[in-house]
Amino acid sequence: MSTKVAIIGGGASGMMAAIAAARKENSVTIFEKNDKLGKKILLTGNGRCNITNTNVTWQNYKGTTPKFTASVLAQHSNLDTIQFFKDLGLVLIEEDRGRLFPRSNQAQSVIDVLEEELDRLEVEIFYNQKIKRIDYSKQLTDNSKTHFEIVTYQNKKHYFEKVIIATGGKSFPRTGSTGDGHRFAEQLGHKIVNPFPASVPFRIQNPVCNKLQGIKIDAVLRIYLNDKKVSEVTDEVLFTHLGLSAPAVLESSREVSKILQENKSAKITCSLNLFPEYTEEQLYKLLKERISSHPDRGIGNQFTGMLPKKVLPTILKNENINPEEKSKQTSNATIHKIIKLVTDYRLLVTDVLGWEIAQFTAGGVSTKEIDSKTMESKTTPGLYFCGEVIDIDGQSGGFNLQWAWSSGWVAGNNIQ
Ligand SMILES: Cc1cc2nc3c(=O)[nH]c(=O)nc-3n(C[C@H](O)[C@H](O)[C@H](O)COP(=O)(O)OP(=O)(O)OC[C@H]3O[C@@H](n4cnc5c(N)ncnc54)[C@H](O)[C@@H]3O)c2cc1C
Repeated sequence: MSTKVAIIGGGASGMMAAIAAARKENSVTIFEKNDKLGKKILLTGNGRCNITNTNVTWQNYKGTTPKFTASVLAQHSNLDTIQFFKDLGLVLIEEDRGRLFPRSNQAQSVIDVLEEELDRLEVEIFYNQKIKRIDYSKQLTDNSKTHFEIVTYQNKKHYFEKVIIATGGKSFPRTGSTGDGHRFAEQLGHKIVNPFPASVPFRIQNPVCNKLQGIKIDAVLRIYLNDKKVSEVTDEVLFTHLGLSAPAVLESSREVSKILQENKSAKITCSLNLFPEYTEEQLYKLLKERISSHPDRGIGNQFTGMLPKKVLPTILKNENINPEEKSKQTSNATIHKIIKLVTDYRLLVTDVLGWEIAQFTAGGVSTKEIDSKTMESKTTPGLYFCGEVIDIDGQSGGFNLQWAWSSGWVAGNNIQ
């Protein structure tokens, strides 16, 4: 028998939930506050949509109980996602590290095929409908099975038997995800694990970052909390006018953001090793050799050809070492200091940039009160959750969208 289902939010997880529920012959309505569906999908993978990954396991996810994802992925895996989109006509191409993108290289293609399927299944879509409140009443006054009253900001009331909250997290609020789902969940009695921004650049007050802005280098990035190492990532680092960004930073940022959320004045330093392929001894030997070959070269230019030209002179100036000093005059103590600087360059991280620019939301609706087999609330029957609104976040590389597809599928598919 057809159940009347409301889906709050027409992003990746909401569209997937709608398709799954409608394929089970339920009567499905999406409420979306924007004038179109999937606004965030358009931004993913730099507009190309890194839709999923060939290597997805529960270990790619974080949250209070990341293993929660295992049972969801068991019902709808990355392979199911690939098949799902293939059936809709979307051809995917694999790139490095298992990342999958549409052959068209356009995120819009993903939305196009989803919209076509929603249309075929006659899913009702209300655009520009921002939901203000979701009320649940246990005691029914009639025989209609409508437990949920959904109220829009225009004070319109709608009644449904089941509701799926697919409102996303708090990151990139200009796409519509402003944390409303956390509020709805809390009002309906759910616990929220404090959300914090993930995959977000660092704010660093050291002028070196500003002076080197735009320069990208491969490095090992280590994060220290009070001199205790908390993470290590080898990847690209980009200097920006505000601090550091690029994959190594974005990947480390979850840890930093979490620490700062718990203690705003925590002392967090990052260390850059610009020569990870050398030991300190090898690098010292190499620098001495380069100095003997070019004794009149300024000491700051001795790594020209190995590092972007501006990097070493800028770092040296900032440490009160004259980069123009002839190398043959540089003392051994200074040479050791330079080796230390390029293999363990310490910068104080004062903050992470905020929600406006964070790619993912960590924290959210606690998984402890959601049944991982159905995505149904354990406390409010008929209420479901999917996507980034939940206390689960994945690594970069297609894992977050995979979570949206999987959890959306499980929520919609379990409604009858
Ligand atoms: C810049 C950027 C790049 C990214 N790149 C990738 C990538 O390449 N690969 C990857 O896997 N992940 C990527 N992500 C993450 C991924 O996009 C998200 O994890 C995913 O889109 C979350 O889907 P969702 O459906 O849970 O939430 P959302 O996509 O945020 O959708 C939630 C929807 O709910 C609507 N809504 C919210 N509140 C209300 C309300 N009160 N009433 C009505 N509607 C409401 C919103 O308008 C929105 O449309 C990226 C994120 C960003 C910001």
